[in-house]
Amino acid sequence: MNKSVVIIGGGIAGLTAAFRLQQSGVNVTLVEKSGRLGGAMYSKKEDGFLSEIGPNTILETSPLVTQLVKDIGLEDSKVYANDTSSNRYIVRNKKMEALPTSPLAFLTSPLFSWKAKLRLFREPFIPAWDNRFEESLSQFVLRRLGMEFLDYAINPFVAGVYAGDPDSLSVVHGFSKLYQLEQTYGGLIKGQIKGARERKKRKEVSKQTAKMFSFTSGLREVPDRLETLLGTSILKRTVVKDISPLRNAWAVTISDDKNKSKVLNADAILYAGRAADLHTFTLNRKTHTYQTDLSKIYHPPVSVLTLGFNREDIVHPLDGFGVLIPKVENFQILGTLFSSTLFENRAPKDKVLLTVFIGGSRQPDNAMKSTSELTEMAVKDLNIMLGVKKSPIYVSHTFWAQAIPQYQVGYGVHKEAISSLEDQNPGLFFTGNYRNGISVADTIVNSEEITDKIKTFIK
Ligand SMILES: Cc1cc2nc3c(=O)[nH]c(=O)nc-3n(C[C@H](O)[C@H](O)[C@H](O)COP(=O)(O)OP(=O)(O)OC[C@H]3O[C@@H](n4cnc5c(N)ncnc54)[C@H](O)[C@@H]3O)c2cc1C
Repeated sequence: MNKSVVIIGGGIAGLTAAFRLQQSGVNVTLVEKSGRLGGAMYSKKEDGFLSEIGPNTILETSPLVTQLVKDIGLEDSKVYANDTSSNRYIVRNKKMEALPTSPLAFLTSPLFSWKAKLRLFREPFIPAWDNRFEESLSQFVLRRLGMEFLDYAINPFVAGVYAGDPDSLSVVHGFSKLYQLEQTYGGLIKGQIKGARERKKRKEVSKQTAKMFSFTSGLREVPDRLETLLGTSILKRTVVKDISPLRNAWAVTISDDKNKSKVLNADAILYAGRAADLHTFTLNRKTHTYQTDLSKIYHPPVSVLTLGFNREDIVHPLDGFGVLIPKVENFQILGTLFSSTLFENRAPKDKVLLTVFIGGSRQPDNAMKSTSELTEMAVKDLNIMLGVKKSPIYVSHTFWAQAIPQYQVGYGVHKEAISSLEDQNPGLFFTGNYRNGISVADTIVNSEEITDKIKTFIK
């Protein structure tokens, strides 16, 4: 085709689009400001421990995700989470309780009181929301399922996925599938049953039943492989200064780490950087108000601690995915993954690896603490839950100043701003975790869809 596209940002969003465009014969230049690709996605091997500093797993919710892994040749390295990891724990009264996975387990589970269980039978009879105003996730769950479900199921789940707070997250923008179940089928239980048939038709899998996977050397295998496939199309340690429209194309002014500037011409531009970084370049030599507004999307700070222990120093069998902590339980950490249970070869023999998340919207100040303060805080909480008897033998700390975009009530304004920027600037496209879902899988799907639009535009 001999067409060219400049992609700004080398996280999974930008890399997916770059790969697909290159496959179609487009000349791609991917500009990444840091010295490595992958953005949030990075794995580290140290002292025999293999840790993830960002995402730990990818959910196989769409055939597009499966296909991408195949097309980049990583099928043989893909590893599914161990069966044991289907156990998920939630803390109640300072004790870990297994999240029930069947109707019978639900009825006998100590995680919810009889009152809460009986309240569930009312759910199918509660009418759908009439959209008088935009509900937060908390308002939605309180209305349909009651307080205990909010406190002991939704609150910890949201802390685990978004590092977020259900009181401020929007149900329609952050949990659109949940919202649609109510709007389309009249309720969650009815929707769960009927929706399953339609998902099957679309070959989609729900987040609850999707399989989780990683790779033998961790998730970084994806950006590493894409870097090899994209080769010289990638410019690392390079920032974008300005993007300006020409008559039938775009001019992108870039600058490398030695402050050497250069102008690239392109038929289209894809912004795949973070929403928080949108104000760092000018659009037609000025900062558009939309860029400033979008860069204000709240991204709470999160600290990720990966802690290695001698197996004998932890009482709990670590037989599960991990444990999430409801806000009402007043712990200092959000939860922990049992990383060496999830996947093989994450820790040396007779050692275990835990990945602890701290901060988020719930306790942003906690995320800011030093490594030693965080380790002490984590060990104290882990001692209560898991019976951790000694200090870790391995510690790795990653601080994300702006971790995950929060789709808060009113997020529609941001989505409209992105669409308006695209409409007002033909040839300028946007993808990334601030658009249609924060998970790696959502981001891949979004990038695949945007790539199709770019291909049509430059045809
Ligand atoms: C701690 C943590 C745990 C997570 N856990 C999971 C999980 O288990 N499963 C899951 O599915 N998801 C998880 N997520 C979410 C998921 O990892 C991210 O949403 C996803 O990886 C985002 O990809 P992205 O490409 O949109 O953005 P990013 O990964 O943020 O990449 C954006 C890239 O753009 C670059 N960039 C930004 N601006 C510019 C610019 N102006 N010029 C050049 N380059 C620029 C940045 O340096 C970066 O490399 C987690 C996220 C975090 C932070």
